[in-house]
Amino acid sequence: MKILDGKNLSNIIKQEIKESVGVRLSLGLKKPHLAAIIVGDDGASLTYVGSKVRSCEEVGFESTLIQLEKSISENDLLYQIEKLNKNSNIDGYIVQLPLPKHINEEKILLSVDPVKDVDGFHPTNFGRMVLELPSFIPATPYGIMEMLKRYDIKTSGKKCLVIGRSNIVGRPISILMSQKGSYGNATVTVAHSRTKNIKELCLEADIIISALGIPEFIKEDMVKKGVVVIDVGITRILDKTALKGYVIKGDVDYKNVSKKSSYITPVPGGVGPMTIAMLLKNTLKACQKKD
Ligand code: NAP
Repeated sequence: MKILDGKNLSNIIKQEIKESVGVRLSLGLKKPHLAAIIVGDDGASLTYVGSKVRSCEEVGFESTLIQLEKSISENDLLYQIEKLNKNSNIDGYIVQLPLPKHINEEKILLSVDPVKDVDGFHPTNFGRMVLELPSFIPATPYGIMEMLKRYDIKTSGKKCLVIGRSNIVGRPISILMSQKGSYGNATVTVAHSRTKNIKELCLEADIIISALGIPEFIKEDMVKKGVVVIDVGITRILDKTALKGYVIKGDVDYKNVSKKSSYITPVPGGVGPMTIAMLLKNTLKACQKKD
């Protein structure tokens, strides 16, 4: 069994990005600039945004964090987005999800200028991705594809089971894994909460990409020997004995499933750090497009 070490790989990618920034500066070009909007004070969202901002510093990007009150009106949030769309110094930005219930998430995501949509959630980018045209690919599926490529894991002709069909993970990764380009070409099955025979589908799969958010859902008796397991799930479980008061669990019973796997991502330290690295890569691309 080999561990797909997302932490190490993301550090390599960040180093590459840092070098590109160095080259830009030596040529007198501007530093890439990523902004993030966060609404409210949800602990997990603050942690995610915090690590995105810290990573910007690591690679030499400029970053701007815009923290807004949970009670902000939809119109005021739209105004903030319009300001970012117009600010030529900002190359890309993200709106951290989820948003408070009184705000229409779809309306907000549609108002992001597609050329600055480094999360790749705007229908223009999503559509371009489906058509295999250049676009910003959502960071988590982009990170998974990059990880499979860099570990030289063969996907062509393999049976891939994706569990989850969300717009940010399950749906896009199922499209990327089946695409005809240089990577992908897998035979993809998408499972979701209405799927009846998940164990059977898991047992048939050469590659399982799990993005459902149920801790340790995938057990040892659900996978075949030699399977490649990509665990996207991140769930916080309260644990008074832990330093932070919680522990992080993935969708996979890592201890036992790893014994049967050829490759497996740990949680934490697998897909999570790759997501951040690919967000930075999208931001660098957004900046380079303006040169
Ligand atoms: P989501 O929007 O809640 O989607 C979950 C998906 O799982 C849905 O499609 C749902 O089916 C399906 N599902 C739920 N219960 C199921 C079951 N018993 N059997 C089969 N499918 C089931 O979640 P998400 O945003 O995609 O995130 C999924 C997980 O990944 C979460 O733990 C999240 O924290 C994590 N995540 C991690 C990263 C990272 O960087 N590592 C990034 C994003 C998300 P229906 O469509 O039928 O409801």
